Amino acid sequence: MDWRNLPRSGGGVQRGGGGGLPGGGLAVGGGIGGLIIALIAMFFGVDPSVVLGGNQAPPAQTQPQTQPGAAGETEEYEFLDRILGSTNEVWSGVFQQAGRTYTKPVLVSYRGSVPTACGQGTSAVGPFYCPLDNKIYMDTAFFNQMDRQLGGGGDFAYSYVIAHEVGHHVQNELGIADQVTRAQQGARTQAEANSYGVRLELQADCFAGVWGNQVADLANLTQEDVREAVNTAAAIGDDTLQRQSQGRVVPDSFTHGSSEQRVNWFMTGFKSGDPNKCDTFSQEYNQL
Ligand SMILES: [Zn+2]
Repeated sequence: MDWRNLPRSGGGVQRGGGGGLPGGGLAVGGGIGGLIIALIAMFFGVDPSVVLGGNQAPPAQTQPQTQPGAAGETEEYEFLDRILGSTNEVWSGVFQQAGRTYTKPVLVSYRGSVPTACGQGTSAVGPFYCPLDNKIYMDTAFFNQMDRQLGGGGDFAYSYVIAHEVGHHVQNELGIADQVTRAQQGARTQAEANSYGVRLELQADCFAGVWGNQVADLANLTQEDVREAVNTAAAIGDDTLQRQSQGRVVPDSFTHGSSEQRVNWFMTGFKSGDPNKCDTFSQEYNQL
């Protein structure tokens, strides 16, 4: 993947957080066991009010430093900036064709802990999107975890993670996230509420695939790159994670979809490049 061919975001990546210890009152479970469960349940999460324990802290008052194109920027910063920049171009184009305007999200790169409009975020929750401030929060140490545990990593795999979170921003812009939240509130059972969340997550995977399709030529994507993203999507399927953490699979408790579903929806977007193919809401749930 030649990610250096991709366009810059023009200041969309900010640095936030001081790398301090997680703030108090964060309901992500105690002890190491709780931490692992929280991580499994929440990374790639869509609802930070759940992710962050519904503990709505006042909006963050810190001023993250922007470093657009600053001399001496790290390779990691440039990578985040170009992936974000390319998602901005892809989604601005898609929205424009539909007669709409795309509001670009901010990506906050942090280490350890970060204040957000959705409460205090920590590395333990993995990458997440906060719809209240339209920001994607990435502790890039997550990339190291992907290398070790979650399918092997790779630059296109990291890009998929970012593009998935951008997908949640797109859903927020389109009002899909709100509709899902309302549907979840009206759900009769937890399993039904979970099913809406799974549809939302699979759509974000599909949107990530759409982005991949549209940058494939510019970034000279190879089969190996695609395999990286597929490996990640498979590694973070609910069934795979549940099998690893609890030794059994409970489909009703799925929040993000099975490995097969995540791979399939990513590839649906990647092969078509068409967000209209990402309608995960009109199909029968058991046929997703
Ligand atoms: Zn997600």
